[in-house]
Amino acid sequence: MLSNFTAKGSEMLSCVTNGAMSLGFARNLSIHEYQSKGLLKSFGVDTMIGEPAATPAEAERKAKEVLAKGSGKLVVKSQIHAGGRGIGVFPRTGFQGGVKLADSAKAAGELASKMLNEVLVTKQTGPDGRLVRTVYLEDAAPVKREMYLALLMDRAYGGPVVIASTEGGVDIETVAHTNPNAILKFPVDINAGMSTEQAMDIARGLKFDEKSVPQAADQIQKLYNVFIETDATQVEINPFAETTDGKAICLDAKFNFDDNAEYRHADIFAMRDPLEEDPFELEAMKHDLNWVTLDGNVGCVVNGAGLAMATLDYMTLAGGKPANFLDLGGGVNQKTAQEALALVSKNPQTKMIFINIFGGIVSTAMVARALLEAMKVVKIDVPLVIRLDGTDSVEARKILKESGLKYTEATSFEDGIDKCVTISKWL
Ligand code: ADP
Ligand code: MG
Repeated sequence: MLSNFTAKGSEMLSCVTNGAMSLGFARNLSIHEYQSKGLLKSFGVDTMIGEPAATPAEAERKAKEVLAKGSGKLVVKSQIHAGGRGIGVFPRTGFQGGVKLADSAKAAGELASKMLNEVLVTKQTGPDGRLVRTVYLEDAAPVKREMYLALLMDRAYGGPVVIASTEGGVDIETVAHTNPNAILKFPVDINAGMSTEQAMDIARGLKFDEKSVPQAADQIQKLYNVFIETDATQVEINPFAETTDGKAICLDAKFNFDDNAEYRHADIFAMRDPLEEDPFELEAMKHDLNWVTLDGNVGCVVNGAGLAMATLDYMTLAGGKPANFLDLGGGVNQKTAQEALALVSKNPQTKMIFINIFGGIVSTAMVARALLEAMKVVKIDVPLVIRLDGTDSVEARKILKESGLKYTEATSFEDGIDKCVTISKWL
């Protein structure tokens, strides 16, 4: 159902997991590639040596160090929380590619100057792109072939699953659509962990030569350990590469971590980069509200995650376009109402607002008073549709009607959706 609307920055993996990962609105921490690689190294997973840099001069200096220790060639990699950088574009300058090969420190510095402080647009960033604030200077690997390897928690299997494909590299989304048989899935028994036999099966599935299988399997097992021990919800290695001498190596790494595990991983959560996160989601998080920015124009203020999801689905089905997911939680009071309305009205995409409240335990009369108090502080200057149903709704509607507030009353969920769709078409 939820595939009917688009969350900004939605995960690419949903295309290979039947959407299982895309269903929840859990918050997942992302970190940069260079940080992910530090984490991998600490678990014994092989990556090339590399150094991050924030200015072209620093990039040149760090490139010298990497060149001295490494193969004599390096890759300059834009660090943003999105993939597809290799085939991304810097629209201001027209410069192509957020991942580039360099054979001298000077060339690396010049490439860094074309990437740093520029917006990079990739398939995963959306048209607004992301500002590159850091580059990673990484030793270039002698690549024979590129594969795909991911570990994630899969709802359908009820546990961890390894997704592996020999068709790795830059575009796994296309493989998932055009050649789904090239994607192998290996469910792992979370209690037993990943056995050496299973890791070897995966390595064989990835077509490593028999003599290379033990090293590749060892890497896969270690990747599984990082995944479990860090409470990651997803580890994606694309490409998982084989070098010309038959060794498995991780050339890219994308991690997501379960926010509920923050208390267990202070070191990992310290890597949170607020500049990379949706400012609305961050703001909502501060007030214990659940928010996801969507790409429509109807701001939604709803109590309860279930009703909030239903509102998005129903509105989308009826031809409307929600601007956000927002769950006020169960106990709506003036403070939460105020913070929620402030968020929705701050969103430049919001052209009208739908307040959809069902009072089960909560009295909607109390909610009506809370909303009116909140609107004294947060001025709403877009069309407003309000549906208050459930406990004390007769009194609640009376309170709103007598308040002098300018709004359109909805007498049911359906009526609310109809009115939003009709009004939003005129905006
Ligand atoms: P993205 O997925 O964002 O495009 P990657 O890190 O996967 O970024 O890099 C894109 C491509 O660049 C890879 O598929 C690989 O071909 C190449 N590449 C990346 N890092 C290295 C490296 N250290 N050595 C050699 N090639 C690399
Ligand atoms: Mg990649």
